Amino acid sequence: MRILIFSPHPDDAEYSLGGVIARAASLNWEVEVVYLTGGEMGGTLKTADVTGKIRRTEAAAAAAILSYRHLFLPFRDLELDDRPETVLAAARRIREFRPRVVLVNHPDDEHPDHRAAAAVVEQACFYAVLPAVDRGGPEPYQVPQLFYYEAFSSRNFQPWFLLDVSPYFETAVKAVTAHACGTGGVPFLLEKMTACHLFRGVQGGVRYAEGIIPGRGRWFDAVANRAQGLEFVCRLNGFDSGRLYGKDGARCVDSGRAG
Ligand SMILES: [Zn+2]
Repeated sequence: MRILIFSPHPDDAEYSLGGVIARAASLNWEVEVVYLTGGEMGGTLKTADVTGKIRRTEAAAAAAILSYRHLFLPFRDLELDDRPETVLAAARRIREFRPRVVLVNHPDDEHPDHRAAAAVVEQACFYAVLPAVDRGGPEPYQVPQLFYYEAFSSRNFQPWFLLDVSPYFETAVKAVTAHACGTGGVPFLLEKMTACHLFRGVQGGVRYAEGIIPGRGRWFDAVANRAQGLEFVCRLNGFDSGRLYGKDGARCVDSGRAG
Protein backbone atom coordinates (compact mmCIF):
# COMPACT_ATOMS: atom_id res chain seq x y z
CA MET A 1 0.00 0.00 0.00
CA ARG A 2 1.29 3.47 -0.87
CA ILE A 3 0.65 6.34 1.55
CA LEU A 4 1.35 9.98 0.72
CA ILE A 5 1.52 12.48 3.57
CA PHE A 6 1.64 16.21 3.01
CA SER A 7 3.36 18.15 5.78
CA PRO A 8 3.29 21.96 5.82
CA HIS A 9 6.70 22.07 7.53
CA PRO A 10 9.43 19.60 8.47
CA ASP A 11 8.15 18.07 11.76
CA ASP A 12 4.33 18.23 11.30
CA ALA A 13 4.05 14.74 9.77
CA GLU A 14 6.48 13.36 12.33
CA TYR A 15 4.83 14.58 15.55
CA SER A 16 1.30 14.05 14.17
CA LEU A 17 1.62 10.74 12.34
CA GLY A 18 4.99 9.35 13.40
CA GLY A 19 3.30 6.31 14.92
CA VAL A 20 1.30 5.62 11.78
CA ILE A 21 4.42 6.00 9.65
CA ALA A 22 6.37 3.55 11.83
CA ARG A 23 3.48 1.11 11.80
CA ALA A 24 3.19 1.41 8.00
CA ALA A 25 6.92 0.72 7.66
CA SER A 26 6.48 -2.44 9.76
CA LEU A 27 3.85 -3.56 7.22
CA ASN A 28 6.27 -2.84 4.35
CA TRP A 29 4.03 -0.12 2.98
CA GLU A 30 5.59 2.65 0.91
CA VAL A 31 5.34 5.97 2.72
CA GLU A 32 6.30 9.29 1.22
CA VAL A 33 6.23 12.62 3.05
CA VAL A 34 6.05 15.78 0.96
CA TYR A 35 7.13 18.90 2.85
CA LEU A 36 5.28 21.81 1.30
CA THR A 37 7.69 24.40 2.70
CA GLY A 38 11.24 24.33 4.05
CA GLY A 39 10.24 25.52 7.53
CA GLU A 40 12.63 28.47 7.24
CA MET A 41 10.85 30.44 9.96
CA GLY A 42 11.24 27.79 12.64
CA GLY A 43 13.56 28.35 15.57
CA THR A 44 14.64 31.71 16.87
CA LEU A 45 18.38 32.19 16.52
CA LYS A 46 19.32 31.90 12.86
CA THR A 47 18.51 33.47 9.51
CA ALA A 48 15.79 31.91 7.36
CA ASP A 49 18.28 30.46 4.88
CA VAL A 50 20.43 28.85 7.58
CA THR A 51 17.35 27.49 9.33
CA GLY A 52 16.06 26.09 6.04
CA LYS A 53 19.31 24.17 5.52
CA ILE A 54 19.27 22.82 9.07
CA ARG A 55 15.68 21.70 8.74
CA ARG A 56 16.39 19.76 5.55
CA THR A 57 19.18 17.90 7.32
CA GLU A 58 16.92 17.21 10.29
CA ALA A 59 14.08 16.04 8.03
CA ALA A 60 16.46 13.57 6.39
CA ALA A 61 17.42 12.24 9.83
CA ALA A 62 13.76 11.87 10.83
CA ALA A 63 13.02 10.09 7.54
CA ALA A 64 15.83 7.62 8.20
CA ILE A 65 14.48 6.88 11.70
CA LEU A 66 10.91 6.30 10.48
CA SER A 67 11.86 4.73 7.12
CA TYR A 68 10.00 6.97 4.73
CA ARG A 69 10.95 8.70 1.50
CA HIS A 70 10.69 12.46 1.57
CA LEU A 71 10.90 15.44 -0.72
CA PHE A 72 10.50 19.19 -0.48
CA LEU A 73 8.32 21.33 -2.72
CA PRO A 74 9.92 24.72 -3.39
CA PHE A 75 7.69 26.93 -1.28
CA ARG A 76 8.67 29.17 1.63
CA ASP A 77 7.53 29.02 5.21
CA LEU A 78 4.75 31.56 5.97
CA GLU A 79 4.24 32.17 2.24
CA LEU A 80 2.16 29.08 1.43
CA ASP A 81 -1.16 29.63 -0.31
CA ASP A 82 -3.38 27.74 -2.73
CA ARG A 83 -2.36 29.50 -5.94
CA PRO A 84 -2.59 27.22 -9.01
CA GLU A 85 1.15 26.52 -9.33
CA THR A 86 1.28 25.25 -5.76
CA VAL A 87 -1.78 23.04 -6.26
CA LEU A 88 -0.35 21.76 -9.52
CA ALA A 89 2.95 20.83 -7.89
CA ALA A 90 1.09 18.77 -5.27
CA ALA A 91 -1.17 17.22 -7.93
CA ARG A 92 1.84 16.15 -9.98
CA ARG A 93 3.30 14.35 -6.99
CA ILE A 94 -0.04 12.61 -6.39
CA ARG A 95 -0.16 11.48 -10.04
CA GLU A 96 3.43 10.25 -9.97
CA PHE A 97 3.18 8.34 -6.69
CA ARG A 98 -0.47 7.13 -7.11
CA PRO A 99 -1.14 6.55 -3.40
CA ARG A 100 -4.02 4.58 -1.91
CA VAL A 101 -4.35 7.13 0.88
CA VAL A 102 -3.39 10.82 1.06
CA LEU A 103 -3.14 12.57 4.42
CA VAL A 104 -2.88 16.26 5.20
CA ASN A 105 -3.36 18.26 8.38
CA HIS A 106 -6.88 19.33 9.39
CA PRO A 107 -8.07 22.50 7.57
CA ASP A 108 -9.14 24.25 10.78
CA ASP A 109 -5.81 25.31 12.29
CA GLU A 110 -4.15 28.27 14.01
CA HIS A 111 -1.23 28.37 11.56
CA PRO A 112 -1.80 30.05 8.17
CA ASP A 113 0.52 27.62 6.37
CA HIS A 114 -1.44 24.69 7.81
CA ARG A 115 -4.76 26.12 6.60
CA ALA A 116 -3.19 26.68 3.20
CA ALA A 117 -1.73 23.15 3.13
CA ALA A 118 -5.14 21.57 3.59
CA ALA A 119 -6.62 23.77 0.85
CA VAL A 120 -3.73 22.95 -1.50
CA VAL A 121 -4.06 19.20 -1.01
CA GLU A 122 -7.86 19.13 -1.28
CA GLN A 123 -7.59 20.96 -4.59
CA ALA A 124 -4.62 18.87 -5.71
CA CYS A 125 -6.72 15.72 -5.35
CA PHE A 126 -9.25 17.38 -7.65
CA TYR A 127 -6.63 18.59 -10.16
CA ALA A 128 -5.09 15.10 -10.21
CA VAL A 129 -8.33 13.61 -11.59
CA LEU A 130 -8.88 16.06 -14.44
CA PRO A 131 -7.37 14.99 -17.79
CA ALA A 132 -7.30 18.60 -19.01
CA VAL A 133 -4.91 19.58 -16.21
CA ASP A 134 -1.19 19.30 -17.04
CA ARG A 135 -1.65 17.45 -20.35
CA GLY A 136 1.50 15.57 -21.28
CA GLY A 137 2.43 15.18 -17.61
CA PRO A 138 1.82 12.10 -15.44
CA GLU A 139 -1.47 10.22 -16.08
CA PRO A 140 -4.56 11.49 -14.23
CA TYR A 141 -5.27 9.72 -10.99
CA GLN A 142 -8.14 9.63 -8.50
CA VAL A 143 -7.06 9.46 -4.88
CA PRO A 144 -9.27 6.80 -3.27
CA GLN A 145 -9.21 8.37 0.19
CA LEU A 146 -8.07 11.64 1.70
CA PHE A 147 -7.74 11.87 5.47
CA TYR A 148 -6.99 14.82 7.74
CA TYR A 149 -4.57 14.37 10.62
CA GLU A 150 -4.22 16.36 13.83
CA ALA A 151 -1.47 18.94 14.17
CA PHE A 152 -0.94 20.46 17.60
CA SER A 153 -2.31 23.73 16.25
CA SER A 154 -5.46 22.04 14.89
CA ARG A 155 -8.79 23.43 16.09
CA ASN A 156 -12.08 21.57 16.56
CA PHE A 157 -10.53 18.24 15.67
CA GLN A 158 -12.99 15.41 16.33
CA PRO A 159 -11.42 12.17 15.10
CA TRP A 160 -13.55 9.65 13.23
CA PHE A 161 -10.94 6.93 13.53
CA LEU A 162 -8.28 6.33 16.16
CA LEU A 163 -5.16 4.43 15.15
CA ASP A 164 -3.39 2.47 17.86
CA VAL A 165 0.29 3.37 17.61
CA SER A 166 1.34 2.28 21.11
CA PRO A 167 4.27 0.06 20.02
CA TYR A 168 5.56 2.77 17.66
CA PHE A 169 5.33 5.88 19.79
CA GLU A 170 8.94 5.80 21.01
CA THR A 171 10.21 5.62 17.41
CA ALA A 172 8.04 8.62 16.56
CA VAL A 173 9.55 10.49 19.52
CA LYS A 174 13.07 9.74 18.23
CA ALA A 175 12.13 11.19 14.83
CA VAL A 176 10.77 14.37 16.41
CA THR A 177 13.90 14.66 18.53
CA ALA A 178 15.86 14.82 15.26
CA HIS A 179 14.33 18.29 14.80
CA ALA A 180 16.36 19.72 17.66
CA CYS A 181 17.66 22.91 16.01
CA GLY A 182 15.06 23.83 13.43
CA THR A 183 12.07 23.94 15.71
CA GLY A 184 13.80 25.80 18.51
CA GLY A 185 11.84 23.87 21.10
CA VAL A 186 11.83 20.09 20.97
CA PRO A 187 10.87 19.66 24.66
CA PHE A 188 7.80 21.82 24.05
CA LEU A 189 6.98 19.85 20.91
CA LEU A 190 7.44 16.50 22.66
CA GLU A 191 5.19 17.58 25.52
CA LYS A 192 2.41 18.52 23.15
CA MET A 193 2.92 15.38 21.10
CA THR A 194 2.84 13.13 24.16
CA ALA A 195 -0.23 14.83 25.61
CA CYS A 196 -2.12 14.50 22.34
CA HIS A 197 -1.16 10.85 21.84
CA LEU A 198 -2.12 9.99 25.42
CA PHE A 199 -5.45 11.82 25.11
CA ARG A 200 -6.35 10.07 21.87
CA GLY A 201 -5.17 6.84 23.43
CA VAL A 202 -7.55 7.34 26.36
CA GLN A 203 -10.37 7.93 23.89
CA GLY A 204 -9.45 4.75 22.02
CA GLY A 205 -8.80 2.54 25.02
CA VAL A 206 -5.11 2.09 24.17
CA ARG A 207 -1.89 3.70 25.38
CA TYR A 208 -1.09 5.99 22.43
CA ALA A 209 -3.28 6.80 19.43
CA GLU A 210 -3.38 9.12 16.44
CA GLY A 211 -6.71 10.37 15.08
CA ILE A 212 -7.84 10.97 11.50
CA ILE A 213 -10.94 12.35 9.78
CA PRO A 214 -12.08 11.46 6.23
CA GLY A 215 -11.48 14.33 3.81
CA ARG A 216 -14.32 16.15 2.16
CA GLY A 217 -15.11 16.15 -1.53
CA ARG A 218 -17.80 14.39 -3.51
CA TRP A 219 -15.34 12.46 -5.62
CA PHE A 220 -14.19 10.59 -2.55
CA ASP A 221 -17.62 9.33 -1.64
CA ALA A 222 -17.84 6.25 -3.86
CA VAL A 223 -18.30 3.17 -1.71
CA ALA A 224 -15.26 1.45 -3.21
CA ASN A 225 -13.10 4.46 -2.34
CA ARG A 226 -14.39 4.63 1.20
CA ALA A 227 -13.69 0.91 1.50
CA GLN A 228 -10.05 1.55 0.66
CA GLY A 229 -9.90 4.14 3.39
CA LEU A 230 -11.46 1.71 5.84
CA GLU A 231 -8.99 -0.96 4.83
CA PHE A 232 -6.17 1.45 5.69
CA VAL A 233 -7.69 2.00 9.14
CA CYS A 234 -8.31 -1.71 9.75
CA ARG A 235 -4.88 -2.87 8.67
CA LEU A 236 -3.11 -0.22 10.72
CA ASN A 237 -5.06 -1.41 13.75
CA GLY A 238 -4.21 -5.04 13.01
CA PHE A 239 -7.74 -5.98 12.02
CA ASP A 240 -8.48 -8.02 8.90
CA SER A 241 -10.79 -5.83 6.80
CA GLY A 242 -11.98 -8.93 4.94
CA ARG A 243 -13.88 -9.84 8.10
CA LEU A 244 -15.84 -6.61 7.73
CA TYR A 245 -16.86 -7.06 4.13
CA GLY A 246 -16.86 -10.82 3.55
CA LYS A 247 -14.90 -12.59 0.85
CA ASP A 248 -16.39 -10.75 -2.14
CA GLY A 249 -16.18 -7.40 -0.43
CA ALA A 250 -12.56 -7.97 0.46
CA ARG A 251 -11.77 -8.80 -3.16
CA CYS A 252 -13.51 -5.62 -4.19
CA VAL A 253 -11.39 -3.66 -1.72
CA ASP A 254 -8.22 -5.12 -3.17
CA SER A 255 -9.09 -4.41 -6.82
CA GLY A 256 -8.42 -1.00 -8.35
CA ARG A 257 -5.23 0.58 -9.52
CA ALA A 258 -4.10 2.26 -6.36
CA GLY A 259 -1.00 0.91 -4.67
ZN1 LIG B 1 3.75 23.22 10.82
